[in-house]
Amino acid sequence: MAVTVYPWQAAVWREILARRDTLPHALLFSGREGIGKIDFVRKLAQSLACEAPAADGAACGACQSCRWFAADSHPDYREIRPEALRTAGQDADDTGVEQETAASKRKPSQEIRIEDVRGLQDFIFLTSHQRGGKTIVFYPAETLNTNAANALLKNLEEPPAGTRFMLVAHRPAELPATIHSRCQKVLLPTPQSDVAERWLREQGIAEPALSLAQTGNAPLLSLTLNDAAYWDQRKSVLNGLTARDGEMLALAERLRDIPAVRLLGWLQRWTYDLLSVRSGGPVRYNPDYQKALGQIAAKLRAIDLARYHRLLLRQQRTVNHPLNARLNIEQMLLSYAAVMRGERLESPSAS
Ligand SMILES: [Zn+2]
Repeated sequence: MAVTVYPWQAAVWREILARRDTLPHALLFSGREGIGKIDFVRKLAQSLACEAPAADGAACGACQSCRWFAADSHPDYREIRPEALRTAGQDADDTGVEQETAASKRKPSQEIRIEDVRGLQDFIFLTSHQRGGKTIVFYPAETLNTNAANALLKNLEEPPAGTRFMLVAHRPAELPATIHSRCQKVLLPTPQSDVAERWLREQGIAEPALSLAQTGNAPLLSLTLNDAAYWDQRKSVLNGLTARDGEMLALAERLRDIPAVRLLGWLQRWTYDLLSVRSGGPVRYNPDYQKALGQIAAKLRAIDLARYHRLLLRQQRTVNHPLNARLNIEQMLLSYAAVMRGERLESPSAS
């Protein structure tokens, strides 16, 4: 059976397959995180390599090339990711990166590094095994560090024959202009909420609307929230924020096993909703707490909420720092309690 993409990608899929024979050697795919960009790109690469594509250009799903894709072992396809994001079994064997890591025992890199790009040279200059040519995917492309981006740029400027580069970015603005100018852009859409809801329901998600509200309509991200622990944790956090007594240190203690970045996300979305309701707007992220949000917001001053919201946004930068994370969360909760008591927050320092 020919491969298909997510329903919300169907239009772009038709459009790009229609010009499969004239696609440029460098493409930049962008769109928000969690909408299925990498799946789209994998299926496109598969379709371009397929030996017997369907009439619309989609991969057949049955030929040798498609079987290689199904087994994640196509000899003409490479995905380059930061070391920290590679899944087990993803091959880095011909780059030498794996061995080097084992030897130095350092933290896995969050960036795509120059070694990762240089390691591709043999692959690039080998003749491809199959007709469709070779495809190299960089994902997320904004994690290319400066040296790696410069090395890649050389390839984009003098494109090697038979090799196609596909960059996949959540935040394309973080890529250098020189890279942008060498790539044809393809914007992948965020689905309409009814389309996303129907799809999540088909995947067996019980509360698709609530999951989508949490992620800003990113269905693949919503799918990852499909564990009971997430929803239990969220409930205890939001119930804690709603509680009249506001015992924040006790709450922080109860929440100590929850990753700080997840907690901060809940606090940010909760405060966003309070601010929105306070200004007469809708509840965006936590529709199941509509009533509580309304009651709390009515007692607070918009300026204090806005100040607190800014404070939370500033935490984004340091939240992953292991030494500060716990302390920061406690402070965030204490500041929240202060706002709830109607105390003025001090203006955040410039630090
Ligand atoms: Zn095929």
